[in-house]
Amino acid sequence: MARVELRGLTRHFDGGKAALDDLSFRIDDGEFVVVVGPSGCGKSTLLRLIAGLERPTQGHVLIDDTIVDDWAPQQRNVAMVFQNYALYPHMSVRQNMEFPLRMMRLTRAGIGSRIDRIAGLLDLLPLLDRKPKQLSGGQRQRVAMGRALVRNPAVLLLDEPLSNLDAQLRANIRTEIAALQRELGITTIHVTHDQQEAMSMGDRVAVLRDGKLQQLATPLELYDAPANTFVARFLGNPGMNISTATLRNDGGQLYLDMPAWNLYVGAELLEAYPRLQQYLHQRLQIGIRPEGFAAHTGQQAADRIAVHIEATEMLGHEMLVYCHPAGSARSSASAKTRDGNAGGTQWIVRLPADDTIRGNATLELVVDTGRLRLFRDDGTALVRAA
Ligand code: ATP
Repeated sequence: MARVELRGLTRHFDGGKAALDDLSFRIDDGEFVVVVGPSGCGKSTLLRLIAGLERPTQGHVLIDDTIVDDWAPQQRNVAMVFQNYALYPHMSVRQNMEFPLRMMRLTRAGIGSRIDRIAGLLDLLPLLDRKPKQLSGGQRQRVAMGRALVRNPAVLLLDEPLSNLDAQLRANIRTEIAALQRELGITTIHVTHDQQEAMSMGDRVAVLRDGKLQQLATPLELYDAPANTFVARFLGNPGMNISTATLRNDGGQLYLDMPAWNLYVGAELLEAYPRLQQYLHQRLQIGIRPEGFAAHTGQQAADRIAVHIEATEMLGHEMLVYCHPAGSARSSASAKTRDGNAGGTQWIVRLPADDTIRGNATLELVVDTGRLRLFRDDGTALVRAA
């Protein structure tokens, strides 16, 4: 097991834009960190730098507090599982797993016992004599894991190892990998573009965008207190609803004015954001998770909002309602925020399943103000009270 540290890690290709830009964070001994971000954000480059398959343009990789930039991949005791598994097609499962052990001076019996142990853990014992083409996608994935693990590496790097599997198998193998990692206690860095995979597997999750670290936190912290609107939108299925708003003072009362909806800033929101006053007359962004709304049923509620329902999606015990505040344009592309996002007003609301809620109708909602999140116009989160 090992600690991994990235210190100002930067990688340029052919003098172009940085594929990784000044990345710094630490991964503790035995920790499972998932790196997530959209295609091209630098996830594979990061793993290749840690494995020693690429060299940084600037910055360092440290393993157990030692800079390993000049160490060859085999000196680092790091194993990597690739997206396409990279199994040798002409070798059996056993031979594929033996291959990395041949370089190590192990006895025949030593090799055999390691393979039996890992094959047992991964349910591969009945498949040891098969060739890769005689295996299903999920079985191939497990062989690739087995081949990485037999070496007893200090660090395990997983590069989208589930992306070739169907949704059901992906969900099963997700839990298998997480359980195996806990059992072996091996420091693991798993990259994926799938936010659900990241949230369900990682002790902590690092969100990357354009080679830059956006936030590194536990799944719950990321979900509850995203550092910016990118993280807020990227995590969650669907992501956080974001609207632009301007803070107004009306006779000592604060309001957040949005298209077709003025939200009264009550005590709860002021307690959460005690320095909100300083943003008076400024444009802000308001984030509301889909489950931060409820259908309004009673007579009272100062802050009910009438929305026009565009469409609904039934999910069984709950439903998603695609809507926009009644009287507002569906999406106002002119209201571009400084973080580059259109401040569109379409919301996706999660409600208990209800057959009477249908498209092309009006619905009254209330918002749980305790769940509102505020961001500056450039997308960074406003500081909340501890
Ligand atoms: P994906 O999810 O699509 O695999 P990723 O997040 O893993 O993407 P990387 O493969 O790390 O992203 O690529 C990051 C950026 O670096 C991309 O813009 C890519 O085009 C560029 N890049 C990666 N490898 C090279 C290379 N060998 N030469 C030039 N550019 C490269």
